[in-house]
Amino acid sequence: MLVVGITGTLGAGKGTVVEMMKSKGFVHYSARDYLRLRVEQLGLTPNRDTFTMVANQTREKEGGDFIAKGLLDMAKKDGRNCIIESIRNIKEVEYLRKNCNFVLLCVDADIKIRYERIVLRGSETDKVDFDTFVANEQRETISDDPNKQNLALVMKMADYTLDNGRDLEYLRNQVEDICKKFPVNKRLSWDEYFLEVVKTVAKRATCDRGRSGCVIVKDKQILVTGYVGSPTGLPHCDDVGHLLKKVINDNGEISTHCVRTVHAEQNAICQAAKRGIALDGATLYCTMTPCRTCAMMIINCGIKRVVCLNKYHSGKESETMLRQAGIILDFVSEEILKY
Ligand SMILES: [Zn+2]
Ligand SMILES: [Zn+2]
Repeated sequence: MLVVGITGTLGAGKGTVVEMMKSKGFVHYSARDYLRLRVEQLGLTPNRDTFTMVANQTREKEGGDFIAKGLLDMAKKDGRNCIIESIRNIKEVEYLRKNCNFVLLCVDADIKIRYERIVLRGSETDKVDFDTFVANEQRETISDDPNKQNLALVMKMADYTLDNGRDLEYLRNQVEDICKKFPVNKRLSWDEYFLEVVKTVAKRATCDRGRSGCVIVKDKQILVTGYVGSPTGLPHCDDVGHLLKKVINDNGEISTHCVRTVHAEQNAICQAAKRGIALDGATLYCTMTPCRTCAMMIINCGIKRVVCLNKYHSGKESETMLRQAGIILDFVSEEILKY
């Protein structure tokens, strides 16, 4: 699990970066929501001053990292990559660096641009004139007490700083670049792990009309694998060309299919038959929605779940059939593969 903390000046665009990260699958945790809860619990009106006051008071009682602790606990229970908005003191950075795989992002922009943004935003804590805005910022930016908000120091601790002084595209490009640099020791989920194996298995396929792979798994262990290829000992499409047959579809259209190959799912099932391995209750991972024949075989093998990387363009019938048979069908991407 990767925890990304975000810090930065008011109106710099932390929320915008959060939205970009959310679209990349990051779960959002908000220090502000957490603080709002604490402020309301004390019967106070939520505004910038009460937020700062309660934050500082609670930090003195519970330690400067109380928000980070609370939010990291929640994040660890969930287990997914997340973004914590926003980090405001040194203790929080230190706690997160010590207790998780942590990256700190900072967003900044010129103070005049930021003031214009918060005026446009017009939320309850933002209704101030420019001078108050500058004064608030200075008060929050510089503090000798490590338990209090000290944006200037926190921003210096950032691993990456984003410049949001131009348009969205400019910011988005920076976010994309930085995401590529994130620590790659992110552990794959079981589904991700088996789907990576599917991609590798598919590389041995021998028909370029659809290089599919398949992995059948039970109790988190791989039982068998299969890829698209000719029956053992017979020539491959890649060597001698496809063996095309015309098929008349329901709508009267004629399409051609290569029938030289045994499908990835079928090959995996054959491997199980050859080795005497039961597939009852197993999960099947594959490149795209299984065809009608494969779907029927999958049902009768007792497979309980099918996970596809993509959708097959004429996979509707199989989808209906698999679901009718009570099989859980998941797609990683809604992208429809045509060939
Ligand atoms: Zn072929
Ligand atoms: Zn098939």
